[in-house]
Amino acid sequence: MNASEESIKCAWCGGKIPPRIDPRGRKARYCSGACRAAATRERARKAHQDELKRAQECAQDSFVLGNPSEILATVVTEIDATTRLIRDRGDVPASCEEMVNAARALVAAAEQQAPQTLTRQQRRRLAREQKKTR
Ligand SMILES: [Zn+2]
Repeated sequence: MNASEESIKCAWCGGKIPPRIDPRGRKARYCSGACRAAATRERARKAHQDELKRAQECAQDSFVLGNPSEILATVVTEIDATTRLIRDRGDVPASCEEMVNAARALVAAAEQQAPQTLTRQQRRRLAREQKKTR
């Protein structure tokens, strides 16, 4: 691959960057706003991790990775972001497959459990929310 071919690939997903009408200005590094946002989040996450690592090296207990609610919030944010990325692209990047499979298993388990235990009102609300997110 030569340099010009490499420069038209998205720095996040590796997909093709659509050609621009106006050739002036800086070349686009990402194929979409979702990829740019994902790359920005990744940089922020890395910076946070570096900071966390330094803090952990100072701490007595090196196994502290953050409290459960922080970890959950991160997971939910990543799932939301990945959902938007997949919708934008129209396919699943290889780097997202592990998360998609895990989410699939989660949904399958939840759907097997939920119908018996939910009240009629809860089922209706769930159906409304599912319609909204589609
Ligand atoms: Zn991209």
